[in-house]
Amino acid sequence: MGFLEDEVKRLQTVLSSVEGRLKALEDRQFGGKTPKTAEEIRMILIGPPGAGKGTQAPKIKEKFHCCHLATGDMLRSQVAKKTTLGRAAKKIMDEGGLVSDDIVIGMIKEELDNNPECKGGFILDGFPRTVPQAEGLDSMLKTRNQTLQHAVELQIDDALLVARITGRLVHPASGRSYHATFNPPKKPMTDDITGEPLIQRSDDNAEALKKRLDTYHKQTTPVVDYYRKTGIWKAIDASQEPGQVWKSLLAIFDGDEHKASHSGSGILAKLAHPRS
Ligand code: ADP
Ligand code: AMP
Repeated sequence: MGFLEDEVKRLQTVLSSVEGRLKALEDRQFGGKTPKTAEEIRMILIGPPGAGKGTQAPKIKEKFHCCHLATGDMLRSQVAKKTTLGRAAKKIMDEGGLVSDDIVIGMIKEELDNNPECKGGFILDGFPRTVPQAEGLDSMLKTRNQTLQHAVELQIDDALLVARITGRLVHPASGRSYHATFNPPKKPMTDDITGEPLIQRSDDNAEALKKRLDTYHKQTTPVVDYYRKTGIWKAIDASQEPGQVWKSLLAIFDGDEHKASHSGSGILAKLAHPRS
């Protein structure tokens, strides 16, 4: 082996040893949960109603310390407050249609601009649902010099969604969801965390679901195609049990770490951009 190869090998060994030492120290400093920066997660979850977006998103939020923005939850909060927007939205939501693009794009922009949790990045759940929404998101991110890292599609056959949707129970204040059979609360109709009552959504019935699925296939499938072309699209089998779906998501995130450790962005990037 020549001098150059020897030197490269020696430096790789030094770097790998320093990386290991740094990781061990960070784990000690942050109790095994290395804080993520705003650059670390910007992703969307796409899938039909009942695919499991709202079940998985809080776990991603916990892992990355980012915000979870669910346009459906935001609209339901407007409905509950009986605002002008809420009154107009309720009818559309109960009929399984889509609220106007401008309104939901505005809601997301407002959160990204003002919600302090979004400083750690974001998971969008139920948005974008149309190609104009996807384009709106792109231009929003462009003005921030940011890009999306993942567009994860939760794939599942329509036939499996009826049971999921008709058995869903939600805690309106947090958006937490349970299932009467598949994921029951500890005490019937009661949120495990707050002890507050759970409700069934007015659009979670078989008839509205049919329309929502129809809307999904017509208006949101083109969004999947939009992201497929970008290279950030990945699909997960959402018919698996929730723990398996979570593992599939983790595999996607592990892919990021793998990429980072092979792109020279490890210790050298940390030296260039030390954590404050
Ligand atoms: P979405 O947010 O995509 O509309 P949810 O996450 O609210 O869907 O899930 C819909 C219902 O299905 C909920 O009652 C939830 O408890 C249940 N559920 C979610 N993921 C699974 C799964 N992998 N297997 C079985 N039931 C699930
Ligand atoms: P979800 O909670 O995601 O199932 O959304 C419930 C309902 O809110 C949908 O059926 C739509 O009527 C409306 N909605 C939620 N997100 C959007 C969006 N991004 N664009 C338009 N309408 C939406």
